[in-house]
Amino acid sequence: MTTNYKEELTGVFGYPVAENPTCVMQQAAFDACGLFWRYLTIEVKPENLAAAIAGARVMGFQGINLTIPHKVAVMALLDEIAADAAMIGAVNTVRRSGDRLIGENTDGKGFLRGVREDAGIDPAGKRVVILGAGGAARAIAVELALAQAAHIDVVNRGIERGQSLVADLGSRTGVSTAFIPWNQTYQVGAKVDILVNATSIGLYPDVDAMPDVALDDVAAHLLVCDVIPNPPNTPFLRAARARNLKTLDGLSMLVYQGVIGFELWAGAKAPEAAMRAALQQALGV
Ligand code: NDP
Repeated sequence: MTTNYKEELTGVFGYPVAENPTCVMQQAAFDACGLFWRYLTIEVKPENLAAAIAGARVMGFQGINLTIPHKVAVMALLDEIAADAAMIGAVNTVRRSGDRLIGENTDGKGFLRGVREDAGIDPAGKRVVILGAGGAARAIAVELALAQAAHIDVVNRGIERGQSLVADLGSRTGVSTAFIPWNQTYQVGAKVDILVNATSIGLYPDVDAMPDVALDDVAAHLLVCDVIPNPPNTPFLRAARARNLKTLDGLSMLVYQGVIGFELWAGAKAPEAAMRAALQQALGV
């Protein structure tokens, strides 16, 4: 029998990156599938990103995740960008096809999978409100538009960022969309089907913070979603549950974006339960 000591490499490049828990989830997936693969958490300063990608190329990395601040800058260093990642304007996952490195974005797809599989809702024809206009909001908005959402309102504090997302969304996907400045309590109307907090409000250590929205007049079927993975049980979701509304947490999005990444890299079905359990243990939830 021949011996193989060569592991296949994957990992995340970020700066800072030490608190990123993805390694726990992906390594659990590789181990559960009996793959001799390794996921590394690697600190890469912005000025070294090009060298790091070149290094990953020659070392034969099977997959790379990008986190802050590399999601946009990496696009110029790849051989191809998937259509939805180009519409979003950011890449969080790189896969290898032969010698070519292809940029993908699994954040919005991960969110969508949670809406479909965990909440049991098809976004087609639904009216959506997204709070926030940053990277997460952008990815979610594009995937919901591509999934045939009927209308997307973007509610954001910063006017320029909100307007820019709505302009890109309309021109790139053709979805009906509007920008609403967030300068007072946002009243969620009865016509909204899906409400998403895609801001960083509620993220550790600001665990008591909550988006300034009123849920007094919402439809009974409203799905309330949060992107915050740590802690996943946010005050926003607790307020929604207190009104008997259906909810979807940021842990679901984080697990599914990793599931999709694993499947792109390994070409095999991801062990979802093992990935979720590993992440829950790492986050202590
Ligand atoms: P960005 O910095 O790109 O965007 C942050 C957004 O939050 C902006 O729209 C910003 O508004 C808004 N915001 C922040 N603080 C406030 C506040 N006090 N009041 C009103 N609006 C506020 O971040 P990302 O989009 O990359 O990330 C957002 C969140 O999504 C993070 O918490 C991140 O952890 C989470 N995330 C979760 C993922 C998952 O898999 N669960 C994946 C990716 C991200 P403004 O424009 O006015 O500054």
